[in-house]
Amino acid sequence: MAKTTLLLACPKCGSESPYDVWQSINASKEPHIRKVLLEGNINIFECPKCGTKSFIPTSLLYHDPDRQIIAQYYPPESLKEKNFFHQFDSEGRISLPLSKKQKENMPEYLNNIHITFSMQEFIFYIKFREALFFNKYQKN
Ligand SMILES: [Zn+2]
Repeated sequence: MAKTTLLLACPKCGSESPYDVWQSINASKEPHIRKVLLEGNINIFECPKCGTKSFIPTSLLYHDPDRQIIAQYYPPESLKEKNFFHQFDSEGRISLPLSKKQKENMPEYLNNIHITFSMQEFIFYIKFREALFFNKYQKN
């Protein structure tokens, strides 16, 4: 489930409208959403009535299997939740709920999820990794 349609209330005028909130993006399957993200427009709700824009603080996983990029954004508010920490090991790696067999078949880079609490950093990191990939494999 990559996105959920939620009925959101505008923080300014209070009018409710449906909005697609993205929780995970697969850059191969959803290249148009990758573009929306890199332009800084992901999960920004724009009220159709008054035009007020507001950022929806939700966690967002980014996976680009072609360039082997995986990153996870968490809203900083997550740090205030006790349950938030349960999903990490002591070195801050996300422990994926996978079987031994699934782990054996998993590509190595998936063990190295880049975690960030800033959407700006999230976007810069993806751009950085894309540029690195481009310089390594596409230059001639
Ligand atoms: Zn509004």
